[in-house]
Amino acid sequence: MTRIAFFHTLPEERPFAEQWAVRHDVEVTFFDQELHDDTLPLLKGFNGLSYKQRTKPNADDPFGFFRRLHDLGIQQIAVRSAGLDSIDLPAAHAAGLRVTNVPSYSPPAVAELVLAQTMHLLRHIPQFDERSANGDFVVSGLMSRELSEITIGIIGVGRIGSTVARIFHALGAHVLGNDIRDRSQLSDIDEFVTKEELISRSDVVTLHTWLDGSTFHLINAERLAQFKSSAFLINASRGPVVDTDALISSLEHGRLAGAALDVVEGEGTIFNYRFEGPIPDERYRKLQSLPNVVLTPHIAFFTDHAVKNMTQQSLDDALAIITGGTTPHEVHY
Ligand code: NAD
Repeated sequence: MTRIAFFHTLPEERPFAEQWAVRHDVEVTFFDQELHDDTLPLLKGFNGLSYKQRTKPNADDPFGFFRRLHDLGIQQIAVRSAGLDSIDLPAAHAAGLRVTNVPSYSPPAVAELVLAQTMHLLRHIPQFDERSANGDFVVSGLMSRELSEITIGIIGVGRIGSTVARIFHALGAHVLGNDIRDRSQLSDIDEFVTKEELISRSDVVTLHTWLDGSTFHLINAERLAQFKSSAFLINASRGPVVDTDALISSLEHGRLAGAALDVVEGEGTIFNYRFEGPIPDERYRKLQSLPNVVLTPHIAFFTDHAVKNMTQQSLDDALAIITGGTTPHEVHY
């Protein structure tokens, strides 16, 4: 029987993978652990691998690591996410491994969190929470704006960004878009403008680009200085798209009204862990202490629909390659 190892399993993924295993008559074995040097030997005897993790399996020697994986009889890595940040693709390909991702498991999952974050920021929920917790039920000083009055700027209008545009357009906001590709067919975007114009005109700026050399610290000190001081920044793309130190400085100096971050630089060392004492990340502790920041631990993808899609699609991809077939989700370097 074909055997697939399912690494770093979330409890919520397991029922979807089990349903799939029965349907395809494949044995899926679940491991809680991430894939690293110490857990690599667990793959002995398996035909395939599905995994999702935020840290690289072996950052020091990726070529050697993937060679050892291949020597165990593994031909492919089915990543259960769109982002491939944890895979050193040249090293995986050099070892003869075929890598797949799940490019689109549910754009609405992310877009709906952006809506929730926007509403939290616009309606000053964190500040009202803080007041209420201190027995202060005075409303003055925290008047909101309504969606039909605001301009939202979306940087990166691909699958998720265009879904954000659809939602906000339907709710009456004015939608500005920016992309490096021609997306002019998207009718939910009222105007396509430069990043500079988008940032200077928007009440909410939300980021939906992929992470690469050109988007690393796309929002840096220089760009933050162009925001309206009444504007909010939302990042549910990838942490390093925003320069965290520059963002903290802008928030502390009142040059930005607030931010909602589902992803942050260095999140791999804190998200998905439980800490008894202080969180071992000074910048995250700083963000947590700011009253106008909404933080979530990379949960935009975390809906039943999305988890089912990413789980079962990755297993479909693994099986396609193990059985000598192809899949449109194979990533070519
Ligand atoms: P996508 O590839 O469909 O869209 C990305 C868009 O960004 C493309 O249209 C691309 O042309 C544009 N882009 C790239 N560089 C740009 C730049 N410098 N300026 C302007 N536009 C640029 O990707 P997607 O599926 O919509 O995902 C978007 C982001 O969301 C990715 O970073 C992905 O990793 C992330 N994501 C996060 C979560 C989460 O749980 N927080 C879940 C899924 C995806």
